[in-house]
Amino acid sequence: MELCTVDSHITAIDHHLLGVPGVGVTYVVQGERVALIETGTALTVPRTLGGLAQLAIRPEQVEQIICTHIHMDHAGGAGYLAMALPRAAVYIHSSSIPYLVDPTKLLKSVRRAVGEEAWPLHGGIQPLPIERLRPAETLHLDLGRDVVLEAIATPGHSPDHLSFLDRKSGGLFIGDAAGLAMDQLGLAFPVTPVPTYDLDAHRQTIARLRALDLPRIYLTHYGPHDDVAFQLDRAQEQVEALAALVDVALADGDPDLVALAARWLPYPADGPAALLARSWSQMSVAGMLRYAVQRRQGERN
Ligand SMILES: [Zn+2]
Repeated sequence: MELCTVDSHITAIDHHLLGVPGVGVTYVVQGERVALIETGTALTVPRTLGGLAQLAIRPEQVEQIICTHIHMDHAGGAGYLAMALPRAAVYIHSSSIPYLVDPTKLLKSVRRAVGEEAWPLHGGIQPLPIERLRPAETLHLDLGRDVVLEAIATPGHSPDHLSFLDRKSGGLFIGDAAGLAMDQLGLAFPVTPVPTYDLDAHRQTIARLRALDLPRIYLTHYGPHDDVAFQLDRAQEQVEALAALVDVALADGDPDLVALAARWLPYPADGPAALLARSWSQMSVAGMLRYAVQRRQGERN
């Protein structure tokens, strides 16, 4: 898909995240006014703008650009999108606002996390003036025609992670709060990245999402899914499997990140999804290892 109608008031634009179709979307939510959810990276912005033009949405009609969290595949394109959409304010958790004003630290951290091979696929970040930014954790946005979006805190994947409940459909824009499910690529796994993954918070978030009894989730990676309980169960199982793998490796001493990643998530050796699967899987193992090591150090102190 390039453009996919998800609901009467929601369209997904496949912006070819990391150069591959089926990996990432920007959602267009339309009431009387228009909001975007997720920005992709700087490199995906032209496709997103192309999608808006195809939908006959003028740049001035977009009033909100909403990011679930600070990672570059969710917020990296915010600056360039804001340049093209002159009336739009960018919403992200207030703790992450400084990283979009001065992205230097964020760029360094992402480069370390995703690895040198995947790094060039992420583009740069256009800094945003503080006047264009708004805290998203208190978001209650009425777009007109009964379209209302509400923020829910869903930390774990990252501490600033928010999801956005669409009151009209009951569905949740879930970002990376549970697992990814990229059906076209045959890949489904939770991402537990360095440097701020928190297993305890993630477990609580998944339990909270289960309790919401959602009819539908809108994944950034990738698309709408109605089998919510299945998706949450699978994400939980995969997280626990990774946590167990990491515990055993730490007990044995000197864990091998690459070998662990391949054991946790058997990913394709080549093809369009190979690089991203390898990068995200290794980043997840690194994130779980870091969490487990810090936990142990905390227990000793
Ligand atoms: Zn993320």
